[in-house]
Amino acid sequence: MNNSPIYERIKKTLAEKKQADLFRSLAAPGSYDIDLSTNSYLWLHADPDIARAAASLVKNQFYGNSASRIVSSASKLFSELETEIATWKGAEAALVFNSGYAANLGMIQAICTPATEVFSDQFNHASIIDGIRLSKARLACFRHGDMAELKRLLETSSQREKIIITDSVFSVDGDCAPLADICDLARLFGCMVMVDEAHATGIFGKTGCGLVEELGLEKHIDIRMGTLSKAIAGAGAYFAGAGTLKDFFVNTCRSLIYSTALPHAAIAWDLAAVRHIRKRPEAGGKLLEKAARLRASFHEMGFFTATSSTHIIPCVLGEAAAALSLSEHLKKRKIKAPAFRPPTVPEGSACVRFSVHAGLTDDDMNRVVEAMGQWKVHRD
Ligand code: PMP
Repeated sequence: MNNSPIYERIKKTLAEKKQADLFRSLAAPGSYDIDLSTNSYLWLHADPDIARAAASLVKNQFYGNSASRIVSSASKLFSELETEIATWKGAEAALVFNSGYAANLGMIQAICTPATEVFSDQFNHASIIDGIRLSKARLACFRHGDMAELKRLLETSSQREKIIITDSVFSVDGDCAPLADICDLARLFGCMVMVDEAHATGIFGKTGCGLVEELGLEKHIDIRMGTLSKAIAGAGAYFAGAGTLKDFFVNTCRSLIYSTALPHAAIAWDLAAVRHIRKRPEAGGKLLEKAARLRASFHEMGFFTATSSTHIIPCVLGEAAAALSLSEHLKKRKIKAPAFRPPTVPEGSACVRFSVHAGLTDDDMNRVVEAMGQWKVHRD
């Protein structure tokens, strides 16, 4: 390290984070009996049937990749995956991106310009926020799920181009966006709508398509985005929607054009896992029932789970130190549940987030509840 003032700032930032209990470390490889930090909601990441199907799909193809999809690597696995997703979603077309982050960043940067006003829920994922920043669009951020405020902002907007962007299931609060109301407002004010189904794909809807399907709003959402990295337990993300939009994204999305495509091995996994989920559409509903039981137990013990109504359950504790204390207490009992602290959550609402998954047994749930009870008795 030389004497650049940048190093001084870096050291100061790190010291401040440590002082405020906000310092982060990469998750260490640990041996946990119960993992409630996972995004593999359907517990498919080690499913042997999917592994076998993926291996067979990628046989006789190369496993890795060599360039952006615009330049080369036009294996038929990519188009098979896109056809599978488009059919599943009942959409005209689908397009695969390297990650959810890259999809949101790329699509929002492509769709929005400084002449566009973006109406964005306060708790939207960081990749949406970063996409808006990159696009230099005008931002109108509405309070989480507050339709009255969204309507007021739309009424006072003077921009001709408007788009509402929201997560469908929110990644920390575990609640659902009021998508039907959002679509009504979009119709009234001539807005485009983009929905991020990262946490709803595979869980909601009669075929596991997501919350948009559950609410029958397919025709009213212009850009349906979801990740292949959560319930699908692979890598990548997708757009589903009109063919014209796909053409537009292929021609303008910098995160797609200027980045090497995912390895074929990952695409094979994604395709096998989507097919697996489509054959078992009841799995999401069972998961939601399990989560409702765990949430009820937390409530009985006096924990506050905010507005959670899904498989994502935050126990909101307020101070970062309290969230770290509960997370550490669970860790000692071989239960993994991460503390979420500012800036990921607003100041004063640090929480421990529990991601309920299909691999969680009744015995596991009893162990979690018991450990939570011990912590509570010790704190109260
Ligand atoms: N959108 C949402 C709502 C997310 O929660 C995440 C990941 N946590 C992403 C996008 C980014 O997805 P990926 O991990 O595939 O980059």
